[in-house]
Amino acid sequence: MEPEPLSAARRTVDLRIDAAWIAPVEPEAALAEHALLVDGGRIVALAPWDEADARYVARVHVQRLTHVLIPGLVNAHAHSAMALMRGVADDVPLAAWLTEHIWPREAAVLGPDFVHDGTLLAAAEMLAGGITACNDMYFYPEAAADAYLAAGMRAMLGVPVLDFPTRYAPDAAGYLAAGLAARDRYRREPHIVFSLAPHAPYTVGDDSWRAIVTLARELDLTIQTHLLETRKERADALTQDGRSPLARLDALGATGPGFVAIHAVHCDEDDIRMLAARHCHVVHCPASNAKLASGIAPVAAYLAAGINVALGTDGAASNNRLDLMGEMRLAALLAKATTGDAAALPAASVLRCATLGGARALGLDATIGSLVPGKAADAVAIDLADIATTPCYDPVSHLVHAAGREHVTDVWVDGAPVVTDRLVQRIDVAAVKGSAERWHARLARPPG
Ligand SMILES: [Zn+2]
Repeated sequence: MEPEPLSAARRTVDLRIDAAWIAPVEPEAALAEHALLVDGGRIVALAPWDEADARYVARVHVQRLTHVLIPGLVNAHAHSAMALMRGVADDVPLAAWLTEHIWPREAAVLGPDFVHDGTLLAAAEMLAGGITACNDMYFYPEAAADAYLAAGMRAMLGVPVLDFPTRYAPDAAGYLAAGLAARDRYRREPHIVFSLAPHAPYTVGDDSWRAIVTLARELDLTIQTHLLETRKERADALTQDGRSPLARLDALGATGPGFVAIHAVHCDEDDIRMLAARHCHVVHCPASNAKLASGIAPVAAYLAAGINVALGTDGAASNNRLDLMGEMRLAALLAKATTGDAAALPAASVLRCATLGGARALGLDATIGSLVPGKAADAVAIDLADIATTPCYDPVSHLVHAAGREHVTDVWVDGAPVVTDRLVQRIDVAAVKGSAERWHARLARPPG
């Protein structure tokens, strides 16, 4: 488009955000002294301040002159309601953590109220830390959806599937029926999308996987699953089935551009080739994988193979933070340490994983993931005037290696403020803390 002459009438827009830098992710380099122009919740333009003065009049003009503005962070894997079980069991490996600590407690308290209250607690933490979209996998997704809508956040809700009963459903068919009914209820909510979320290859049998694959094709739904989180998962599958779990899922028709492999810590070279050939996505959860001693995913190899990589926190019960800025730094450091290559996972690549990579994994990259005209104005302002971020040679480097979520000051979703001056706007934080304390009183008793 030709630039308009300065004499032309200025366009009125809803919102202008001036920042010292904008890191739009597309393109990769940060833009100094630019403004983001927003109208009707969508990004109209990114322009230098003087050009913005000449071409636009904003109904609301926000100035964040020591800040870097980035796309909203996408937490590509969480079990949000488990925020109520943060710190309930540290220092145990995955199998014992699940069977001795988490599943017995869930059996005691699981229900829509638990999921709603826990998800609201998680949403408040995530928004304050710059996360505007979350890929959630938990029971009672309708209760989670209500919490995300109240918070003003975007979410993908995974329809959970297991082959064993919980309070939520008796069997795989029951989980699918309940989850798809929830999906129908939120069809008209633009901030809520659904996917199919079989827990893992080892907890869901072939017949259930076939039903999931058929539904995913019929309804055009993403399939997300925990895959190869532990070394034992690979060893057990090879013993029982003679194949990698990924090869088994591929034979069942589950892989493809709508397949999201969560964790993918123990993929071998054949698995990596298959993930790349099928255009699958990987969600890297470095803190959870480290804390449960599961291992370190070969992220540099995934990126070198052309696989889309997103970042996730996993649940707060195995992390214990829902802090994607923390995950960015950890991902960068672990990639360098494990490859012996200081050039592995540079800051711009990590920021891309935490934003556009997540959006692509969720199938939402036409709407979110980068600050480009036409996309939704989901944006985060991070103050780099702190002593820990001064001076600043490169704001993208600082985002990953020097800044933290405590430097997030403002967050917008669709151009509407959801965090202002570090305060979450749409959640009664005192009430959320009160409900968390009541759940704590029930959960603090040892299970059994
Ligand atoms: Zn998980």
